[in-house]
Amino acid sequence: MSLKAIKGDITKLNVDAIVNAANRTLLGGGGVDGAIHRAAGKELLKECRTLAGCETGQAKITKGYKLPAKHVIHTVGPVWHGGEQGEPELLKNAYQNSLKLARENQLASIAFPAISTGVYGYPKEKAAQIAVEACLDFLKEYEMAILLVAFSDSDLNRYQQLIENMSEK
Ligand code: ADP
Repeated sequence: MSLKAIKGDITKLNVDAIVNAANRTLLGGGGVDGAIHRAAGKELLKECRTLAGCETGQAKITKGYKLPAKHVIHTVGPVWHGGEQGEPELLKNAYQNSLKLARENQLASIAFPAISTGVYGYPKEKAAQIAVEACLDFLKEYEMAILLVAFSDSDLNRYQQLIENMSEK
């Protein structure tokens, strides 16, 4: 089984890529985005400036600079507007396009934060279902060590329950 949930700070993980829940400018922000830029150092922002932003649901890759992770995959999750404006599809795209980019770059391990569940306001249970489903679907076809990184005990429990329930199907 190569989908696991852990609790911790994603900037500390020694994996091929950590995913950044970025905004469309890719020029940094608060939350996990701010933490990743602080830990990676100024060179990350410099490379991000060359990328000309990123559409919601898409993903772009950079180096990891001072991070233990070799790369950062920057993706943009949707802002929650009640769920009727394509949010589920866009969130799924963010996970799928990040995984696709990892595969295209021959990466073997990737760690995701809970995209859109902070400032972007996506309900945590709904977002976790989409995250787990997108990862399990990907693993039916490809090999990858995927970590879902929780930032609290309740987020961790939620992921673990879902992984258990959804892998049985
Ligand atoms: P978004 O704008 O996509 O909602 P946020 O950064 O506001 O992104 O929040 C996304 C999730 O990342 C939240 O659940 C938050 O608790 C979590 N988070 C914040 N900092 C870290 C970190 N250093 N490592 C892992 N997860 C984090």
